[in-house]
Amino acid sequence: MKKSLPIFMIICIFFINASAQVNLKAYKANGATVSVRQKGLMVSWPVGNKAIGKMILDLENGKPLFNSLQMGKKGALKLVAANLDPVFILRVGKRTLSPESGGWDVFFDRVPTRPYTTSLVKFEKGNASVFTHGTQTVVKIAGLQSENFSGSLEIILYNGSPLFNVAAVVSTQKDSTAILYDAGLVSKKEIWSTVAWSDVKGNLHVEKAVKTEGSENLEVKYRTVIGENTGGSLAVFPAPHQYFYPLDEAFNLKFTWKGSDYLNLIPDFGIGIRQDPIGDKRYVPWFNAPPNTQQRLNFFCLLSTGKADAVLNEVKKFTHNDTYVPLAGYKTMASHFHNEFISDVVLSGKPVPEQPEFVDVLKKTGLNIVKLAEFHGPGHPKGPDSTRLKELNALFKQTKRLSDPNFLLLPGEEANNFYGGHWLAFFPKPIYWIMSRKSDMPFESKDPKYGKVYRVSDKAEMLKLLEQEHGLAWTAHARTKASTGYPDKYKEEDFFKSETFMGAAWKAIPGDLSLPTLGKRVLNLMDDMANWGLKKHIISEADIFTITEQNEMYAHLNVNYLQLDQVPNYADGWQPVLDVMQKGKFFVSTGEVLIPGFNVDGKGAGETLQVNHSGKAKINMQLNWTFPLSFAEIVSGDGKKVYRKQLNLNTTQAFGKKDFSWQIDLKGRKWVRVEVWDIATNGAFTQMVWLE
Ligand SMILES: [Zn+2]
Repeated sequence: MKKSLPIFMIICIFFINASAQVNLKAYKANGATVSVRQKGLMVSWPVGNKAIGKMILDLENGKPLFNSLQMGKKGALKLVAANLDPVFILRVGKRTLSPESGGWDVFFDRVPTRPYTTSLVKFEKGNASVFTHGTQTVVKIAGLQSENFSGSLEIILYNGSPLFNVAAVVSTQKDSTAILYDAGLVSKKEIWSTVAWSDVKGNLHVEKAVKTEGSENLEVKYRTVIGENTGGSLAVFPAPHQYFYPLDEAFNLKFTWKGSDYLNLIPDFGIGIRQDPIGDKRYVPWFNAPPNTQQRLNFFCLLSTGKADAVLNEVKKFTHNDTYVPLAGYKTMASHFHNEFISDVVLSGKPVPEQPEFVDVLKKTGLNIVKLAEFHGPGHPKGPDSTRLKELNALFKQTKRLSDPNFLLLPGEEANNFYGGHWLAFFPKPIYWIMSRKSDMPFESKDPKYGKVYRVSDKAEMLKLLEQEHGLAWTAHARTKASTGYPDKYKEEDFFKSETFMGAAWKAIPGDLSLPTLGKRVLNLMDDMANWGLKKHIISEADIFTITEQNEMYAHLNVNYLQLDQVPNYADGWQPVLDVMQKGKFFVSTGEVLIPGFNVDGKGAGETLQVNHSGKAKINMQLNWTFPLSFAEIVSGDGKKVYRKQLNLNTTQAFGKKDFSWQIDLKGRKWVRVEVWDIATNGAFTQMVWLE
């Protein structure tokens, strides 16, 4: 008895110690295994191809958190990395919150022109816990603190993929705060033999990792930086869209870093992601961080037992190599580009390239149809008439020349006159029109050189022109930027109630890292318009200026998958494009989540379903995705209220395809639609199915 007492005590101390440190109450068997040893926590999870990943975390302060990261077949694990610490740098600035600029929905804010702080998020490892959410295993460790923010570190491992997410989940109680963050993995030891990344032309750069070398910001493609050693490679990258707060320019602002002494705040050698605080030097709104919201400052890691090029190829699959993949029965369409090729190149006297760079870039992205928004700044929409007609003529000639059987480049403008706020005008063929009319000139006339010419003087004539020429209008950046207050302010106007007014356009403005979706602004408007009793639709818009190979285009792009079997021939006009938009026969996506099939009891997007007496209906949805999915949300309305039903999809794994079927009660509802979001906040949403 006397002999066994110390052993008993040791066991007791071990368990007291272990249980005080790691709470495993919410851990459930899901294929991942978790074990606690002294101050260590070991998680292993299936990563696909019969391989496993193993993460050993050291919970003792002063020791690197990631004691080791391993991957391989059971019994033959390779050490990919060891002795790494996650680091986060938080920039805290002030949001103006002026009602004229849309409050929290603001875009016109210049946060870095006002005082802001840049500080390291301090991590004093506290209590840890492990949760199981479907096929995800979440390790949470308390103890993050920076400025007036505090919170926990969260590591999420995804069964089926050597992927994990590292997040500083922090909140503040302070109002009117805007934030930015940089992050990465650092080590005091020499753990990488080389650091690698893709340049903007797609060439892999591999450089020796020299611990004494100061940090350097890297201009990369695919937003990824890779540490490589003999055991394998580890890629660090952000959420492909969410990390890129809205800007007018998709400039490549060197979104990754490597080296020691980053920002003079992190002495150790690291690799990571970063944001440029001054952005494109135009409007620089950063991210919203409203009081008490859980802001997820996060990055992804992907493990590989291969070299840097192998892990980069795996990362690229999550964004289909930064393209919009073809889908049978659909053509891809993007809208709202202020590229100004006509004013800045064609009419400026510069040589006109046979194949301009912007066309090349858009084609490579997998876009079939691109609607421009020319003459936004340059150009003479209101005349002089001869100048305006010459500009339109150049626009029509060039868009025709640059279109081909699989790529339709379409003329279009952000018209911004007569209706209020900013809006897009879109005609199904080249139309000569001037956004002004002298009292002695007719609405419609014949020009000897250009043929039919319209002159528009007010909203009634604008509506008349759209009706006569089967054009469409929609609100650009609704409820923010120069459309703050719109379309709400003109919702009773004839032009808005007209079928020529398609609805509004969606872009992820503002950014808010606490949301599981890319914003709410336009999705809420979509529901409001339906509850107003109007059959409107929401297309996506890029709303950016320069389009180059160097730019980080994919992060700022989004796409409409239009139900079209073929790309119309420019010379025949493109009425079919406007028809599917007007009828709501499309879905919107960031590219990673796709909705090849969707109907409610057999009725597709834009169609009307007679709901049976019981109100019961079945939503059928075919989805395919890259990142594991997070959830679907069925949104419906009865003309007054909006109803949301969230369906958990956290049992999905990366790179899946599945038909889903959900029962829903639609009694008394007038419309229904569905959104789907993944764990990296990429998503897709349908248009409305109208209910009777
Ligand atoms: Zn605009």
